Amino acid sequence: MDKSDHELNRRQFLKSSAIAVGALAAVGAGVGYLQKVTAENRINQKFLRPPGAIDESTFIYGCIKCGLCVQICPIQAIKLAGIKDGLAYGTPYIDVRNQACDFSCDSMQCVETCPTAVLYFKQFKKEGEKAIEKYGATHERNAEYNPFPVQILAMKSIVKMGVAQVKQDSCLAFQGKGFKGTPRGSDFKGINRSPYTGDAKATPVSEKVYDEKICNICVKECPIGETAIVMADEGNGNLVPEVLSGCTGCGVCVMVCPTEEPSIVVEPIKS
Ligand code: SF4
Ligand code: SF4
Ligand code: SF4
Repeated sequence: MDKSDHELNRRQFLKSSAIAVGALAAVGAGVGYLQKVTAENRINQKFLRPPGAIDESTFIYGCIKCGLCVQICPIQAIKLAGIKDGLAYGTPYIDVRNQACDFSCDSMQCVETCPTAVLYFKQFKKEGEKAIEKYGATHERNAEYNPFPVQILAMKSIVKMGVAQVKQDSCLAFQGKGFKGTPRGSDFKGINRSPYTGDAKATPVSEKVYDEKICNICVKECPIGETAIVMADEGNGNLVPEVLSGCTGCGVCVMVCPTEEPSIVVEPIKS
């Protein structure tokens, strides 16, 4: 090989390398763009994430799809997104109409168990500790001393999965109507630990029978209580459900609403 052949080979090599680098960069940019677009589309699908979920656009990449949150939930409220959900495949969500989070575990177990902290526990821990401290300052330590319920209430009260919204067009109370019977029928599989009946553990919604002159089942079954939803005077003496700032988006109200399409829905919170 003479000197001019050598120079030619060198130039060809440099040219091919430049083309290869350019092609790789273009593929990389394309994949990045597709990931972003797909992630945004999934965000638009409005998954209701379990308690403590961090910002959706980070959550979708930070969740390692281990399913520990699914396994630990005692009422099996958490499901994993399917293959059709693209980048969201394997990430956890709650379909509240079928099975809402009624806080049956009593200690944010899904959040505490998450190994990557995309379900972030620290805020709940802090809130619980603050409540125990406050309770301890006013209660004598004897056989009756039990800060656990106070701690749990403080922890679940700061959950913000979403916010409930009443659909006035179909809500029975807004039509001045009551409800008698089992709200979701005898075949419904969902369970709920009812504050209204004082059940110690979750029992089938299908076993609960109501006889309400004006429907108020969502209010009766809300695990958070009067800081989240109340029956309020519409201004004309009619009592109707009103969602307040303490709503956690747990979705129990959606699960127990007796109208064919739920007359109360939860709008997920994005961060
Ligand atoms: S435990 Fe955390 S990382 Fe695992 S699936 Fe649930 S949210 Fe994702
Ligand atoms: S349970 Fe449904 S129909 Fe009944 S008051 Fe609540 S939103 Fe209205
Ligand atoms: S109103 Fe109560 S039951 Fe309904 S989502 Fe809010 S906290 Fe849950």
